[in-house]
Amino acid sequence: MHCPFCAETDTKVIDSRLVADGGQVRRRRECLSCKERFTTFETAELLLPKVIKTNGVREPFNEDKLRAGILRAVEKRPVSVERIEAAIAAIKRKLQATGEREIRSLLIGEEVMLQLRDMDHVAFVRFASVYRDFKDLDEFRQEIDRLSADRHGSDVD
Ligand SMILES: [Zn+2]
Repeated sequence: MHCPFCAETDTKVIDSRLVADGGQVRRRRECLSCKERFTTFETAELLLPKVIKTNGVREPFNEDKLRAGILRAVEKRPVSVERIEAAIAAIKRKLQATGEREIRSLLIGEEVMLQLRDMDHVAFVRFASVYRDFKDLDEFRQEIDRLSADRHGSDVD
């Protein structure tokens, strides 16, 4: 790490501690040349695969876009912010776990559907109806039938 004061290349770490609940390392450094001290923060970069859109264009994974899609689906539904954030975190973990450098946007949609199915039936149907292709209409109808059939047994709210 170069010294920000004199650009010397040799700096020494004089203190290192975990901050932000262990999610970050804070380091105090001292320049061996000008003796100035400065702080650096180190955070793990969680690499997410690039997204291949249906038209073949690649774009960086966009968490805001994912969140916006989920929020649209759960609008006016009794779903907590914590639940939504947990779902987003679960989807990101799953995408990271694939180890793929590129992933089709359809796959992300599938992951969202899995999360919404456990979260809220109405949100799931809303998302699915926007997201699913017409060729999947039978599958979609089956899914709704299945959810309706489940409703008596599994709805506790
Ligand atoms: Zn220096």
